[in-house]
Amino acid sequence: MKVLVINCGSSSAKFELIDMTNEQSLAKGNCERIGIANPIFSYKNLLTGEKIDKMEVPMENHTVAVELILKTLQDEKIGVISSVDEIDSIGHRIVHGGEYYEKSVIVDDEVIKNLEEIAPLAPLHNPAHIMGIKVVQKLLPGKKNVVVFDTAFHQTMPGKAYMYPYPYEDYTDLKVRKYGFHGTSHRYVSEVAREMLGKEDSKIIVCHLGNGASISAVQNGKVVDTSMGMTPLAGVMMGTRTGDVDPASVIYIMRKRGLSLDEMNTRMNKQSGILGIFGESSDFRDLDTARREGNERAVLAYEMFCYRIQLYIGAYVAAMNGVDAIAFTGGIGENSVGAKQHICEALSYFGIELDKEKNEQRLPGNVELSTKNSKVKIYKIETAEELVIARDTYKLTKE
Ligand code: ADP
Repeated sequence: MKVLVINCGSSSAKFELIDMTNEQSLAKGNCERIGIANPIFSYKNLLTGEKIDKMEVPMENHTVAVELILKTLQDEKIGVISSVDEIDSIGHRIVHGGEYYEKSVIVDDEVIKNLEEIAPLAPLHNPAHIMGIKVVQKLLPGKKNVVVFDTAFHQTMPGKAYMYPYPYEDYTDLKVRKYGFHGTSHRYVSEVAREMLGKEDSKIIVCHLGNGASISAVQNGKVVDTSMGMTPLAGVMMGTRTGDVDPASVIYIMRKRGLSLDEMNTRMNKQSGILGIFGESSDFRDLDTARREGNERAVLAYEMFCYRIQLYIGAYVAAMNGVDAIAFTGGIGENSVGAKQHICEALSYFGIELDKEKNEQRLPGNVELSTKNSKVKIYKIETAEELVIARDTYKLTKE
């Protein structure tokens, strides 16, 4: 029982093949720059460690990319299967499920129709996902495809949390509201945190901190609020995204700099956040190194990044009227010792106390990092989005 997980972007296709009998990841890789100049292909056989590292291969469209993925998975030398018959089903990561989906579903004509209808809400992502599904249906006929949504887990939010105070018809006509993203990660991490806590009625704040970053408040297993919004631009400061800003500042900058809608969109999504303030890189490791060397803009960007997370944690303690655990995940959340310390130290009023020594040990896996006296548990949890997509796909298709 092997599940192929696919995440198709407009010019990329990430993939991972997972054997569901033991949840062992067999191979993974990425096709980048599909349909543009100098496409590159990366692949790793996770059983032997053999890999193809950023090889230039012609990939004029997603069909060619998926053909290359399937060919490599079956390759005599570095492949992990002898035939595509070994792939039972395919799980697709979908960024936006709108209000239609609160759970993963098997793809049928209605799903495609709904995804097409939602596409304007995620113009960069959903059309690429739909194309990915159609390519897979063509190349692997007869196999079941499942869609797993970034928005689904957040569909439990109450109206008071997801509505924006625009005229009501902007919601009814245009579907403008908060949806939230990274839901697969928030779901998995909050479930692990709930198990570690050993408590059914629980108040958990999940901080997913990667290039994109979002925070969610999960009460008794249900999201009550989350920091990303109608799009993944809202919330905390990110690698290249602003996160929350005064909406009027957007109009002001556009007017003063004479920017078009597309230019402002690019400025807010690709040139802001850590990159915008620090100026040299969007990567948190680069930021941390420069901060230690005393680079002033790096210090400012680092402090802003942590401060905005601290504010969201405070807000979500208020949203749930309490908190049992804070879980850090994502590249920064899992690996940055300094960010966890900086954020937790600023929240001592809530009785949040990080075990500094344990934090510095960088233990692998899922670990508790709070002191015995801490009123709130602090966890580092390794997210596993591909595994969750594979699990949902397996569960839905095995019947
Ligand atoms: P994505 O959102 O693309 O999935 P990741 O979750 O992989 O991103 O997170 C990428 C971020 O994690 C980068 O900013 C990277 O610098 C940061 N990161 C990775 N390893 C470390 C580390 N050891 N210390 C601090 N930051 C790290």
